[in-house]
Amino acid sequence: MTDARPKPHHNHRACIASALNAAEKLCAGRGEQLTELRRRVLELVWAGHKPVGAYQILNSLREDGRSAAPPTVYRALDFLLAQGLVHRVESLNAFIGCPHPGEAHATQFLICKDCGTAVELDDPGIDRAIDGSAARLGFAIAARTVEISGTCADCRAR
Ligand SMILES: [Zn+2]
Ligand SMILES: [Zn+2]
Ligand SMILES: [Zn+2]
Repeated sequence: MTDARPKPHHNHRACIASALNAAEKLCAGRGEQLTELRRRVLELVWAGHKPVGAYQILNSLREDGRSAAPPTVYRALDFLLAQGLVHRVESLNAFIGCPHPGEAHATQFLICKDCGTAVELDDPGIDRAIDGSAARLGFAIAARTVEISGTCADCRAR
């Protein structure tokens, strides 16, 4: 498992650029259209390392001078979700960019309740433990949400 924590004063423009670049390559490879709107919504989701709500995105689009309506935003988010470019953070009803789209992976999130930063863990061990426990109970898993709330290392150091 890699340390996916964003460094406190990193150059976030580089994160955005690499996310957009990865999205363009991935969509081109799949013959999917990363329209200008979808690209902009992805960029807005990547505004930081904190989950972003649909209405926040809608407001930003309106600030861009677009006459966007909620369904427009939801359709763009659905596309980004389907392509694995963003994940939904259920406990916050918000969205966050995936740092390594294109590979199938289970996600777990550590969410800081002080600064709002959410870090994606892709720990196959957690997933195997859930699979094992469910199987022992004869339970068929349809969806899994593992979101852990707490205080990140940077906030703890303050
Ligand atoms: Zn960043
Ligand atoms: Zn991911
Ligand atoms: Zn924090």
